[in-house]
Amino acid sequence: MTYIKLAMDSRKKIALVAHDHKKQDLLDWAKFNQHLLRQHELYSTNTTGTLLEQELGIDVIKLRSGPLGGDQQIGAKITDGDIDFMIFFWDPLESLAHDSDVKALLRIAIVWNIPVACNRASADFMISSPLMDGEYERLTTDYADYRERMR
Ligand code: PGA
Repeated sequence: MTYIKLAMDSRKKIALVAHDHKKQDLLDWAKFNQHLLRQHELYSTNTTGTLLEQELGIDVIKLRSGPLGGDQQIGAKITDGDIDFMIFFWDPLESLAHDSDVKALLRIAIVWNIPVACNRASADFMISSPLMDGEYERLTTDYADYRERMR
């Protein structure tokens, strides 16, 4: 297996998403860590982003609401190298109309080796990592063999 290095800037592009029953958790976490989050560029699905802006007064680039395609928009940004990092508080106790989108988003984050935190403890460890402050070279699989497989 060969790998490609993708550079992450010290100012990270962070996607923040929470399902409805997890939104308060994310807001509490974001409030506690707002001094760290303000150093980065934030992206969100629409409702999560609106709540973050209202509660924290921080700028968030808002995409569509998750069930209306926002999860897929974040997935597309990960694929294009436009998201470095994802905090995704998904609800383990409820099945949702857009479960397939949720699965797709989690899958594409693995494809591109994006750090993902799906609960508060993971998010705490990630946001406080010394790697957050500097540049970082993210190793992603070189998919050349896959792309060339039919030629
Ligand atoms: P929302 O979407 O922030 O618009 O509620 C979240 C999701 O369900 O993915």
